[in-house]
Amino acid sequence: MAEVPGPALDPGKDAAPGAPVIRLENVYKNYDLGEVQVHALRSVSFSVQTGEFVAVMGASGSGKSTLMNILGCLDRPTRGSYFLDGIDVSGMSKTELAHIRNRKLGFVFQQFNLLSRTSALENVALPTVYAGLPQAERDKRAHEALERVGLSDRADHNPSQLSGGQQQRVAIARALVNRPAILLADEPTGNLDSRTSVEIMEILQSLNEEQGLTVVLVTHEPDIALYTKRMLEFRDGKLRRDAQVTGRLFARDVLPNLPTVDELDLADAVPPPEPPKPSQD
Ligand code: ADP
Ligand code: MG
Repeated sequence: MAEVPGPALDPGKDAAPGAPVIRLENVYKNYDLGEVQVHALRSVSFSVQTGEFVAVMGASGSGKSTLMNILGCLDRPTRGSYFLDGIDVSGMSKTELAHIRNRKLGFVFQQFNLLSRTSALENVALPTVYAGLPQAERDKRAHEALERVGLSDRADHNPSQLSGGQQQRVAIARALVNRPAILLADEPTGNLDSRTSVEIMEILQSLNEEQGLTVVLVTHEPDIALYTKRMLEFRDGKLRRDAQVTGRLFARDVLPNLPTVDELDLADAVPPPEPPKPSQD
């Protein structure tokens, strides 16, 4: 495997403006199960520019998670090339991939994957430990990231003291704390009710719109994909459709029309109509 020259690993050295932040060329991924080989990705090619918001869609088993593992430098293609921010990462060692992952990528999962007996602030600060930042800078960044997701007032709470939506917001803050080039989210709304899902999409949309953060999100829900800008549809390990989203939804417009949890509870609690009172005369 070829050694990667030092400067390519410099996190401050980004690709030329206009160059795609993600570029896959004929990527294959096979899982070797002894007797049989599973062809999880079959010659997948596409590019993503900085500032895009992409939904990865497809039935269970179509290769979405395999793709995300490769995009997230958690796994390597069997064949083909992956350029991340202009750097060919397909031949990198696990150590080099871990380095790139920490610098360039933020991850959000369906299970929030927070440490349970650890405050929201400490959960968010965790990736800065591996990035080797000084304590003061780590605290500052963790507070900023929590503020970004509207949870400054919950910094001292443990995950068990937070709702599902709040836990996912902590997980988003944790994904942002090292200022990644790309946010990768695998079914981030999979465990949330419909209003909370839209609240999470509101945060992702504002990060994308206001900070130009590139977001790649796996979802099997067409409703959720409508909040993104582009859909990539996979079937049997192949990219079958690549289209801009038409009829895009904006969470900030949709939310005012969705009932809050309190309103739903209230609707459930409405007492049955009272029987007519006997007339007085
Ligand atoms: P999706 O996320 O769309 O459900 P996956 O990427 O998880 O799809 O899986 C794609 C195919 O690869 C499936 O047939 C699955 O069984 C197989 N697969 C995924 N991960 C592994 C693995 N670690 N070992 C063997 N086969 C796997
Ligand atoms: Mg999956």
